[in-house]
Amino acid sequence: MNDSIVKILEGRGIKPTSIRILVFSEMLKFDRAFSLGDLEKVLLSIDKSTISRTIHLFNDKLLIHKFDDGSGSIKYSICQENCDCDANDYHLHFYCNYCKRAFCLESVHAPKIKLPDDMEIEGINFVIKGYCGKCDKIAT
Ligand SMILES: [Zn+2]
Ligand SMILES: [Zn+2]
Repeated sequence: MNDSIVKILEGRGIKPTSIRILVFSEMLKFDRAFSLGDLEKVLLSIDKSTISRTIHLFNDKLLIHKFDDGSGSIKYSICQENCDCDANDYHLHFYCNYCKRAFCLESVHAPKIKLPDDMEIEGINFVIKGYCGKCDKIAT
């Protein structure tokens, strides 16, 4: 397990320190997007500023991407192996209004957008809101 994590980190140009390996292995356990607070809860042995710095490094190196699901806390999700986070890779996200979890919709791409010449895209934040499979089951 650790070997493959080391490979993934190195593949993104990140020096695989033991703390980074630990943080990334916790990220892999989420089946949904996570916030800084979610990570702090499962990484009690690591101080918050270290977790926050590690998240920013991972984000800069395109290991993870962030988006705003409108819940008030920024969410992060691990990028696909071949993702460069350029405009072609932008995908939509889904936010469940009931369990408050957010997910990547990797197969649903953002539409191509033609902007006026003097404007440049730096990020796209499409969030679809509804209920997820789990909450659907509870409702019926
Ligand atoms: Zn839900
Ligand atoms: Zn995503």
